[in-house]
Amino acid sequence: MSGMKDIVIFIGPPGAGKGTLARLCCERMNWTQLSTGDLCRQHVVQKTELGQQIDLLIKSGKLISDSLVLEMVKKWLQEQLTWSEGIILDGFPRTQVQAEMLDLMLRETLQDSYTISVVKMELDPDIVVRRLMARVVCSNKTCQAVFSTKNIAKTKKNNDSDELVCAECSSPLVRRADDVEPVICERLSIYQSHASQLLDYYKASGRPIYSLDVAQPVEGVFEQFVHLKNGFNLR
Ligand code: ATP
Ligand code: MG
Repeated sequence: MSGMKDIVIFIGPPGAGKGTLARLCCERMNWTQLSTGDLCRQHVVQKTELGQQIDLLIKSGKLISDSLVLEMVKKWLQEQLTWSEGIILDGFPRTQVQAEMLDLMLRETLQDSYTISVVKMELDPDIVVRRLMARVVCSNKTCQAVFSTKNIAKTKKNNDSDELVCAECSSPLVRRADDVEPVICERLSIYQSHASQLLDYYKASGRPIYSLDVAQPVEGVFEQFVHLKNGFNLR
């Protein structure tokens, strides 16, 4: 075993499919995913102290503070005793400060035995809005699988009602509280205000940045990612 850890950072607007692709990588390639958005929502339903602090921010599409996110990520990293083939960071880092702190944390725990690769996903704002308005997610917060009402063949119907349920765990599917048009626009504009700075940071620190075409169906995105990955400095 080389002991090298491959860290892959997905950078893209809401609705680009970061979470969906990360999930496929976990299922099919045995990678591990960290979604700070999923973690945040778990805190909210569990009504932890952190959850109560961030509930309104999330509902209004604002970022939670760098220090709160970093605390959460640090804890997650410490709990990750056995790291798999690769780790996908989905929704983190979101700001340059978060990126700098991530570098510090990784260097502290792994010294030089990791690589960072960045995967950039671009998508037109009007497609983002359309996708998120059609998105339904599993209400079971340990699952949070994502589906589209445009593709209900992938979901299933509850036996005695028309309710859509999760194809993975059979919990009801719901809309996310922040998937309403004004909040989607807020999230998009916050994303745009940070993305170029974040990408510049990784460019300046010499990390490879790969572009993925995410305007195509999920399977195509996955296939393209696998191709990309084989050309990475990844295993
Ligand atoms: P999508 O789930 O479609 O990728 P998104 O990126 O807008 O969309 P999440 O990543 O699920 O949504 O994040 C939801 C909310 O959680 C954010 O709007 C923000 O309030 C909070 N959040 C998640 N990650 C971070 C982060 N790294 N820094 C600050 N806030 C975050
Ligand atoms: Mg997500």
